[in-house]
Amino acid sequence: MNSKIVSPGLVLRELPVKDNNSLLTILTATDGLVTATAYGARKSGSSLSSGTKLFNYSEFTLLESRGRYKVDSAKSLEQFFALSNSVEGLAAASYFVQLLYDVSLAGEPDTAVLRLALNALYALAKGKRSHRLVKAAFELRLMALAGFEPELDACVGCGSDALSFFSVTDAGMYCENCAVPRRAAGDRIYPLYPAALDAMRYILSAEMPRLFSFSLGDEAAENLAFLCEVYTREQMGRSYESLDIYHSLCD
Ligand SMILES: [Zn+2]
Repeated sequence: MNSKIVSPGLVLRELPVKDNNSLLTILTATDGLVTATAYGARKSGSSLSSGTKLFNYSEFTLLESRGRYKVDSAKSLEQFFALSNSVEGLAAASYFVQLLYDVSLAGEPDTAVLRLALNALYALAKGKRSHRLVKAAFELRLMALAGFEPELDACVGCGSDALSFFSVTDAGMYCENCAVPRRAAGDRIYPLYPAALDAMRYILSAEMPRLFSFSLGDEAAENLAFLCEVYTREQMGRSYESLDIYHSLCD
């Protein structure tokens, strides 16, 4: 029997394929990741063209036939148009959707991840907050939702609360006494500024609409951005071309 998905979803990938068709990967609210073909979406005047673009959040009706989905309708709910006003914002958004693709699974809806994604794209598109901080908050919160929440309350080695180092290797904080020998042994341990540690705790606990409402001085912001990125790369076990592009624009 053929099945049907009716759900809002965010377009994470939009690949042009033959005959003006687009192959989409959609993060849906009801079914997790779904791959679907939008027939004729790249033809001018197609009713599918506006709702099936990359970064679009649309109300989709997807019809299944012999194990494949096709887009029956796509009504755009939010297009994040303003992303195209900033090349840095656009590069960050491209990185975000790749991370979302890597942490999401077909058949496993995760409304918290979808909500984080929409809030992050909204913050980038609005452009009022530093994209560096939006990116850091998105990365760390996404890692926590994906099951990689770091231990930030006490030293992973001895339980002390005099915390000054973050271990990417052990996903947690260290005091100086515990950090020095482990660092010498080759663990990936970096100094973490107190303000950046506070920001990490905020990112892991903030209610979603307020997630990006924090500010940091330049040095702490750089420290936070560096560690959230290195931590994410470690958990994902891969590098991202979109991230390299982002840095080529911002550094
Ligand atoms: Zn310790």
